[in-house]
Amino acid sequence: MNILIIYAHPEPKSFNGALKDLAVSELTSLGHQVKVSDLYSMNFKAVADSEDFIERENKEFLKYAVEQKNAVKTDSFSKDIQEEQEKLVWADFVIFQFPLWWYSVPAILKGWFDRVFASGFVYSRDMRYDTGGLKGRKAFVSITTGSPKEAYTPYGMDGDIYEKILYHINHGMLYFAGLDPVEPFIAWTPSHDEEERKRYLEEYKWRLHHLLEIHSIPYHPHSHYDEKHQLKNEYRK
Ligand SMILES: Cc1cc2nc3c(=O)[nH]c(=O)nc-3n(C[C@H](O)[C@H](O)[C@H](O)COP(=O)(O)OP(=O)(O)OC[C@H]3O[C@@H](n4cnc5c(N)ncnc54)[C@H](O)[C@@H]3O)c2cc1C
Repeated sequence: MNILIIYAHPEPKSFNGALKDLAVSELTSLGHQVKVSDLYSMNFKAVADSEDFIERENKEFLKYAVEQKNAVKTDSFSKDIQEEQEKLVWADFVIFQFPLWWYSVPAILKGWFDRVFASGFVYSRDMRYDTGGLKGRKAFVSITTGSPKEAYTPYGMDGDIYEKILYHINHGMLYFAGLDPVEPFIAWTPSHDEEERKRYLEEYKWRLHHLLEIHSIPYHPHSHYDEKHQLKNEYRK
């Protein structure tokens, strides 16, 4: 498979760096083709603005999503965006490696989504979720946390990691764009315990060897919603 790793951590010797390095070495040794977008080392521009377009449909007023759609049609994204989109088209599987920051992705990765997951490229009015532009590709997030696992249970202090914390990433970004998100990999509080870290690296290695066996997160397809974006009655529990 062609596997793309989107990696967002400012320190190469971090535990996130170790997980990314392990993925590159294991996946390569298994015969996969691997590309890495190391956003900090690329100094990836996180801010969406007018510089993102070589040509503009409207030079007087920046409506970012309209210019994205125009750039898809006229092939006029800035080079850094175009390169990332080409990697996504190339990939069969995408891994997002990052530490959980403020219940979400680090800003540099949020900027990557804002700029690369463009209107007209990954979504439009009729193209989203199972019909999104990146359909046919699987993905998962591999994250580390500062808070312990118990804090992210349904009654935990931080809230359920699956239903509340990661929903906006798995559903709102990956699935929205057409990717098929499989269960996340989570290394809880890796800064505390060397033995735990070794265990996480072993667990992650197992996952890398069984990529296609990891279950998809069961989300509704686009057709289950009505014209008001409501889940149709027959699909409600
Ligand atoms: C801005 C910000 C916001 C945050 N928001 C949240 C939040 O909302 N929720 C939350 O839970 N946490 C939050 N945190 C905490 C953050 O999620 C954790 O600090 C982070 O996930 C830890 O991962 P790391 O890779 O940075 O760990 P590191 O601290 O870089 O690594 C942990 C340890 O692993 C060691 N290590 C590296 N490589 C290896 C290896 N190969 N084998 C064994 N050990 C190794 C390192 O030397 C280090 O001792 C936040 C932190 C910041 C800075």
